[in-house]
Amino acid sequence: MDLLEYQGKQLFARHGLRVSDGKAVTSVADAVPAANAIGYPVVVKAQVLIGGRGKAGGVKLAADEAELREHAGNILGMDIKGHVVRTLWIEHASDIASEYYASVLLDRSAKQPLVMFSVEGGVDIEEVAEQTPEKLIRCHVDALAGLSRGEAQEIARKGGADADVVDGVADALVALYEVWTAEDATLAEINPLIVTPQREVKALDAKVSLDGNALYRHPENQGLSDSENEDPIERRAKEEGVQYVKLDGDIGILGNGAGLVMSTLDVVARAGGRPANFLDAGGGSDAEKIKQAVDLLLANDAVKAVLFNIFGGITRGDEVAKGLIAAFAEIKPSVPFVVRLDGTNDVEGRRLLQEAALPNVYAAKTMNEAAEKVVALASGQPLEAPA
Ligand code: GDP
Ligand code: MN
Repeated sequence: MDLLEYQGKQLFARHGLRVSDGKAVTSVADAVPAANAIGYPVVVKAQVLIGGRGKAGGVKLAADEAELREHAGNILGMDIKGHVVRTLWIEHASDIASEYYASVLLDRSAKQPLVMFSVEGGVDIEEVAEQTPEKLIRCHVDALAGLSRGEAQEIARKGGADADVVDGVADALVALYEVWTAEDATLAEINPLIVTPQREVKALDAKVSLDGNALYRHPENQGLSDSENEDPIERRAKEEGVQYVKLDGDIGILGNGAGLVMSTLDVVARAGGRPANFLDAGGGSDAEKIKQAVDLLLANDAVKAVLFNIFGGITRGDEVAKGLIAAFAEIKPSVPFVVRLDGTNDVEGRRLLQEAALPNVYAAKTMNEAAEKVVALASGQPLEAPA
């Protein structure tokens, strides 16, 4: 669950990281009194779940009310890489002496938390990592011991922080690490972490992702999910309790069980196709659940063909077939389906499908055959005979 900048800053403040006070608003009319209360100059910032807002014109300094009105008006409604700006964050503008970078995340391959720090912040950190990797300090942390102040000072010094702010940077790193652990975040990133001319160390930006599976431990964070900016199909899936992840291809994929779905994605990719989603109907899917899943799949306009890959264990092939038949009776899909049914009651399931003679449904015996068929169908090639 990704947080908007101002929400991330709320969590930062909770753990003692220095941030500027500000206000989130959704209209120019609300921006004016907010900025007046904060005091000029202010910075007006687009709140969208995507980086590079500054470069896109979504971060502007305003010296007075006239500038504020102009920038707030321009940024509200702006489209930043497909994300429409509905909320602005207005905070008192900071003076900047240096822009650093800091983050905490889980390094899965090392199975340890990783703290990163660089004095080359503000810009594209990926560029720093690629072109001057020695300027990005990477330090693994013992998850049981946590990040000590001494270690944090060492990171700040190694990264080349100005000597007089080593302690300030270390405090910020310790606080950021605490945000990451205490809030069950998967990522906590500050870019830039600034040093002001008064030598204060402060988070000017915040990028925080929370672990959705741990949200039950943080009732105070439950309101943070940005349902307005969330993909509407993902939101619906969440409400219906279906595992659904939107991808950017054109082949809808449904399987039962995360392992099967993941291998289906791989097989489709190997056959030259691009999955449009990851949809796991779960174990014990009945007809009703299958219907729901078909509905979700087809809600995505990008889907040109659908692959149903069901391995019957607890899930019964005949139930899946009934669900599909019921779904087709109601929804009348306009795109072709490839169905591979295997396992419990598969013979019965295939017989039901054949009897129903659903238009535009193709049977496949193996996963590879199913993948090849669906890739061909998605690219508009006609196949010989439906099921
Ligand atoms: P991003 O482009 O989405 O990463 O948005 P940021 O919040 O990081 O802002 C982009 C850039 O705008 C920063 O790197 C700063 O250079 C600049 N900026 C943001 N806030 C302020 C501010 O309060 N004062 C000044 N002088 N510059 C700011
Ligand atoms: Mn930034």
